[in-house]
Amino acid sequence: MELFYKSTRGNAPKVTASAAILKGLAEDGGLYVPERIPMLDHSMREFSEMSYQETAREVMKLYLTDYTMEELTDCVEKAYDDKFDTDRIAPLRDAGGAAFLELFHGKTIAFKDMALSILPHLMTAAARKCGTEKEIVILTATSGDTGKAALAGFADVPGIRILVFYPKNGVSPIQERQMVTQRGANTRVVGIHGNFDDAQTGVKRLFSDAALRERMNQMGFQFSSANSINIGRLVPQIVYYVYAYAQMQKTGRIADGEEINVAVPTGNFGNILAAYYAKCMGVPIGRLLCASNENKVLFDFLTTGIYDKNREFVLTSSPSMDILVSSNLERLIYQAAGEDAEKNGALMRQLSSEGRYAVTDEMRARLSDFYGNYASEAECAAKIRSLYESDGYVIDPHTAVAAAVYDKYRVQTGDDRKTLIVSTASPFKFTRSVMTAIDAKYDAMDDFALVDRLSALSGVPVPAAIEEIRTAPVLHDIQCGKSEMEQAVLDFLQ
Ligand SMILES: *Cc1c(COP(=O)(O)O)cnc(C)c1O
Repeated sequence: MELFYKSTRGNAPKVTASAAILKGLAEDGGLYVPERIPMLDHSMREFSEMSYQETAREVMKLYLTDYTMEELTDCVEKAYDDKFDTDRIAPLRDAGGAAFLELFHGKTIAFKDMALSILPHLMTAAARKCGTEKEIVILTATSGDTGKAALAGFADVPGIRILVFYPKNGVSPIQERQMVTQRGANTRVVGIHGNFDDAQTGVKRLFSDAALRERMNQMGFQFSSANSINIGRLVPQIVYYVYAYAQMQKTGRIADGEEINVAVPTGNFGNILAAYYAKCMGVPIGRLLCASNENKVLFDFLTTGIYDKNREFVLTSSPSMDILVSSNLERLIYQAAGEDAEKNGALMRQLSSEGRYAVTDEMRARLSDFYGNYASEAECAAKIRSLYESDGYVIDPHTAVAAAVYDKYRVQTGDDRKTLIVSTASPFKFTRSVMTAIDAKYDAMDDFALVDRLSALSGVPVPAAIEEIRTAPVLHDIQCGKSEMEQAVLDFLQ
């Protein structure tokens, strides 16, 4: 049965999966959601016998119903190949009483690779299916990790160009270096004078600018998005929750059908929403622990029902979670509003005009699967140190936020169900924060010396993604003001 996608704002026509992937954002400014969340059509026991690639195909076929099995198989095989440094793609590691799901074994050593390795292939197939003749221009705002993962995924893909905006002073030195050394004639990287929310708001504005869209059209271009608002990002992220659960069952970490909790370091709410979709599809998941850093807008929302972005933006050691407007939350709000696009649209308009909205008690009750908490910078550092000392396991600051929230949750609730902590980046990507959390003396060393030291300490070889940038030349050094983003797009396309 074909599954169509509708807009959370209700003023755009229903489209097929491939059209939704090509468009990214719906024309009315809403996000595409499936008309219904499909149920899994295999048991967990069956999934436990499948490879990551097979699992991906079997989960994605339920959402991307206008792709043939051949197309899906082809996309999956091109995505999850030896770009990953382990053939398990998303391995589990036990530490601190929980199971860590390591999603950083791809090309850019961040979890964004899980979806961005496959999105270019899904998009190329979609363009073919929809008979698009225009060149696709991917516009992306990044808080650090999406940018590099999208650049790596889309570099030299025929028929597609990619432009990435990042906050000039809001990403780690290694993240910045990874981006500005990106090769590929179809790539461009621009640092903006502003924070991630400025970059994200700017990109959203470009997408919904009808005059610009018309001008692009005449020039032979069509915008699309590689941000997690694209349903083509969300669907591949559901896969690893199915895979992880099946592997936990297979290895005896849990009994058949036993419920687990999932702790997710959250920024734009894409990753945790994928976990929620997995739960709705039948994966035995209990609570979803939404972990924030000091930008704790989601914690406040989940505990009070009031979303309020009018607050100081804090730069933390987990920059990919330094976010005040979590775009994917809109998909959940829409669902909690009983799929009432009008109600959702009103809240979202209030968010852009006043910076805040409040949901009703009835809506809050529908969010009870989610638990929110946050970790301060000190708590995050303490968790990195204690896990290293207890288990010899070194985690990155984003993952540490989730691990610290998991500890708080257990103390607060006494719920001791087995927990899957989602590990979203390699510690090598945030070496300085990680090493100084372990011992302040490391602050005196330079970035690459720290990389070698971390490798010695953790017994993990330096990932290829880091080795590459030691010597790579800088190929992008463009900057612009936050009101100059449209010009930056035009410069790139001319
Ligand atoms: C993007 C990112 C996150 C946040 O994920 P969302 O899907 O935006 O909530 C967390 N950790 C790392 C390392 C990331 O790159």
